[in-house]
Amino acid sequence: MIGAILEVGMLVDVVPVGDVPARVKREASAGLRAVYDCDVTVHEPQPIPDGAFDANRNQYRAEDFIELASRIGSGEKNIAVTPKDLFYRKRNYVFGLAYLDGNGSVVSTYRLQTSSDGGFSERNSEDIFDDRVRKEIVHEIGHTFGLEHCDNKRCVMNFSPTVREVDMKEQNLCGTCQRQIL
Ligand SMILES: [Zn+2]
Ligand SMILES: [Zn+2]
Repeated sequence: MIGAILEVGMLVDVVPVGDVPARVKREASAGLRAVYDCDVTVHEPQPIPDGAFDANRNQYRAEDFIELASRIGSGEKNIAVTPKDLFYRKRNYVFGLAYLDGNGSVVSTYRLQTSSDGGFSERNSEDIFDDRVRKEIVHEIGHTFGLEHCDNKRCVMNFSPTVREVDMKEQNLCGTCQRQIL
């Protein structure tokens, strides 16, 4: 099991921002527990941060959600989860964002709901959505542990610009990434 920098009893707090379904909270918690062997709590729901909305883009600033998670989260690491569509700088959208070695991060489920699965499976769209949520949560928290993007397309730390890449990767860290946080 992954260990040393992930101290025993380390806590990750999931911070729902906006109207987050119970299903999403459950998948987020399960994904984190399975990969990092950490404790997970789910914070009480928070309103969308004031000023996070950009009217020109009709999207929300990802940094504001990270700041909120850092500020109110009760874990060593904290991750905001929101149904709102997020952007970061010049990028058209982001599935999530985290600062390397930071204590806050965010995942948006907005663009993970795309029904297309790229033809990878016959599974129903709810199961595919659940997988995507877990992968993106595990990915962003990985950045807070200092992991950068990984070239291994199966590794959860692979960069996924579209849901196609998300669907291709697995929910786990590859061996190389695991050793980095041992
Ligand atoms: Zn990333
Ligand atoms: Zn990797």
